[in-house]
Amino acid sequence: MKRALTDLALFGGPTAFLRPLLVGMPTVGDRARFLARLEWALDNDWLTNGGPLTTELEGRIADIAGVRYCVATCNATAALQLVLKASGVTGQVIMPSLTFAATPHSAAWVGLEPVFCDVDPVTGCLDPARVEELITPDTGAILGVHLWGRTAPVIELEKVAAEHGLKLFFDAAHAFGCTSGGRPIGGFGNAEVFSLHATKTVMSFEGGAVTTDDGELAERLAALRNFGIDRDRSVNAVGMNAKMSECAAAMGLTSLDAFEETRARNQENHALYRSELRGVPGIEVLAFDEGERNNHQYLILLADREVTGLHRDRLQALLEAEQVFPRLYFSPPCHQMPIYRTDPPLRLPHTERLSEQVLALPTGPSVSFEDIRRVCSIIRLAAERGGQIEAMWDQAVPA
Ligand SMILES: *Cc1c(COP(=O)(O)O)cnc(C)c1O
Repeated sequence: MKRALTDLALFGGPTAFLRPLLVGMPTVGDRARFLARLEWALDNDWLTNGGPLTTELEGRIADIAGVRYCVATCNATAALQLVLKASGVTGQVIMPSLTFAATPHSAAWVGLEPVFCDVDPVTGCLDPARVEELITPDTGAILGVHLWGRTAPVIELEKVAAEHGLKLFFDAAHAFGCTSGGRPIGGFGNAEVFSLHATKTVMSFEGGAVTTDDGELAERLAALRNFGIDRDRSVNAVGMNAKMSECAAAMGLTSLDAFEETRARNQENHALYRSELRGVPGIEVLAFDEGERNNHQYLILLADREVTGLHRDRLQALLEAEQVFPRLYFSPPCHQMPIYRTDPPLRLPHTERLSEQVLALPTGPSVSFEDIRRVCSIIRLAAERGGQIEAMWDQAVPA
């Protein structure tokens, strides 16, 4: 793989960066504030079990999502499991395959069957018409994903769910602070689930949050995350331990304090990537709807091999040789993972096409404008010389 550096250098390309550029660098915010919150928790001997920091974080997330209830958890995967359990879903759950493994895992882990649905070729989110085709008497719920912060067709999916008497949830791990039709993500379907994992735009080391307007659901969730212990201290359900700790909440609050700044900076980064790569054949920096609010958490590049002549994985290797480390969000798609693969293989053409083209590139406050210009110069060069690089590669790497 190191060969790639030499190849680009042969074409007058850039040399190695001084420091590696990574996707999903943590947005800590003001470290002193985090430490002060942590000191406060330690001073007060209140480290977990629905402490004041967790309660404050839940309140702030509920406000941003425009809902009445927020239930914070140890991570989003557990939150998705709790939501499916607490809602009494049985049978099959229709969901996209173009998502993180946690989405189908959460259903499978609570005994439900993930049913993978193809996505809209442009948005990468569930296509309501395809969803409808997959509904059977066994269907219990629809689980949409707001991929890359581009929101799923929430209203159409709400309509499909209502017509067929199904529950509807969203994995909103990518969509903190985003809107759809001007309304904040977090308030659609029966419930939505955010991730506060260290790589996400607002993070609490590990963490998750369910938002909903359904008070009974919120109450069941609060019990289930705490061993099934309900308001009267009586255990009426097989619960688990999915609580958020006060340490995580302290981080979540501090990262949330910085969210607006992070978001603004990522938006500038996105604009620069767009302008630097404008007009490069076969290369598209995914755009966002100007009329909506977006967190710009992910910088998504779609590289069309048929135009550039360069395989996406080759482009990734070229970037890595220059200390730029893209992530494949999401490749392979879930239906091609060994655990979910079927025989004969399920074919989801739009999902597979997007999955073969996608590269998430470094963004966030720690990535400078100069970094971005250099990343883009590699991509421009690679895309323009795609065929040549591919041919050299075949010679350099013995079969
Ligand atoms: C990060 C992520 C998750 C999992 O979140 P955790 O908090 O790490 O459990 C689920 N779905 C998607 C789409 C994600 O990106």
